[in-house]
Amino acid sequence: MIAALLSLLLVAAPAPAVAHAGCGGHELIVPRQMAAPTDVASQSQIKDPQQQCTPYQYPRIAAIQANYPTIWQTATIPAADTAARELFARINATVNEKLPNAGLKPAAGPPGLPNYDRSDPDCWWTWQGCSTPNPSLGIPADVVRIPEPNSLGMTVDDGPNCSQNAFYDFLREQNQKVSMYYIGSNVMIWPLQAMRGHQDGHEICVHTWSHQAMTSLTNEQVFAELYYTRQIIKDLMGFTSRCWRPPQGDVDNRVRLIAAGLNLTNILWIEDSNDWRANVAGSAVTPADVDRRYQGVIDQAKGGNYSTQGTILLSHQSTNYTMSTLMKWLPQLKAAFAHVVPVASGMNWTTPYAESNFTYPSFAQIIANQSASAPGSVSASGPSASVSIGGNNAAASGSVTGTASRSGAPSGSGAGSAASSSRAAGWRSSEVGTGGVVLAAVLAWAAL
Ligand SMILES: [Zn+2]
Repeated sequence: MIAALLSLLLVAAPAPAVAHAGCGGHELIVPRQMAAPTDVASQSQIKDPQQQCTPYQYPRIAAIQANYPTIWQTATIPAADTAARELFARINATVNEKLPNAGLKPAAGPPGLPNYDRSDPDCWWTWQGCSTPNPSLGIPADVVRIPEPNSLGMTVDDGPNCSQNAFYDFLREQNQKVSMYYIGSNVMIWPLQAMRGHQDGHEICVHTWSHQAMTSLTNEQVFAELYYTRQIIKDLMGFTSRCWRPPQGDVDNRVRLIAAGLNLTNILWIEDSNDWRANVAGSAVTPADVDRRYQGVIDQAKGGNYSTQGTILLSHQSTNYTMSTLMKWLPQLKAAFAHVVPVASGMNWTTPYAESNFTYPSFAQIIANQSASAPGSVSASGPSASVSIGGNNAAASGSVTGTASRSGAPSGSGAGSAASSSRAAGWRSSEVGTGGVVLAAVLAWAAL
């Protein structure tokens, strides 16, 4: 059972690495060395995907997991967490004051709410791609693109993934930093993989605790899904994310207001690779369809469609297929765009986390770093080049510690109609998709 579930996972490498000794045509199979990883360095060295996905105990998680909701269940606030309850009470009061008539949406999306007001009073992105709430509400707009011309904000959802090493190694070789939207339950299960994302210099954002349609959850559930994902990132890596992304983009003003109460900016996208829908039972989306999506983005870049402002592309690290497909297309994306950057750099958020001692390269800094290192060069892939960008030790990297505040950065706006076009192929035609595959991994873990 467990082996079958693990086989669903990723399997990022073509075949397990098996040591063997030949002797006259007979081979003696030597068991793999299965020592559990104890830190990011030892985990990063594991090449065999199945070994990467072998559950391990991490003491720091074991010490705090009782303070957290149950993984892969809808998050609620544990009874003993009075600090979270007090914060939620304040945010909830604001929601009730500003949006007294706000209701929950059905998990089935628009098909489950056929009589929804076509004027879209809730700015429900899932309805027709609204990303700019009525200014009178004082609710921040979503970020849907980066302002830098001919530039791509590269985003990867649903991590960390247990067998991600080949993918993360590739990003290192490409000297490519991206924005990663981590699921809280995945961070709990695969903490070393999560920490590697940060150490490699990727931007780490919140992608909820259990990956559900956020507009279908109660105020407390929305709060807890965001709060505890942000908190496990903080407990594990020491910083407080200020960026988040709703699963399948499902957000409305009520959810936005709760996220804003947690100082989380909603990051959406313009371009959707649709990769999570391919290679999924019951889905009509094929790998060829996904390739056409990637090619379409490249064609638009070459055609000058982003000549006045950049865009954001959605992809996933949920399966071997989605990671491999991005690995296949990334060099062509980099060739078609002037710059491929994480969203934080694209927005010039040089202190992207709440803690000011964590700095991140500005747009100018990151493109200077990229141009200084040829893609795939040894210097670009070295751990020092990667680690330095994301952590406390930014000064050691040669990248300048930025001082611009987030409030001074441009905010995304006005792209709702464009965003909706990429979602028009049907709402949640397959519920299996992203959450399903990730859930399979978790069930395998939980069964142990
Ligand atoms: Zn997702």
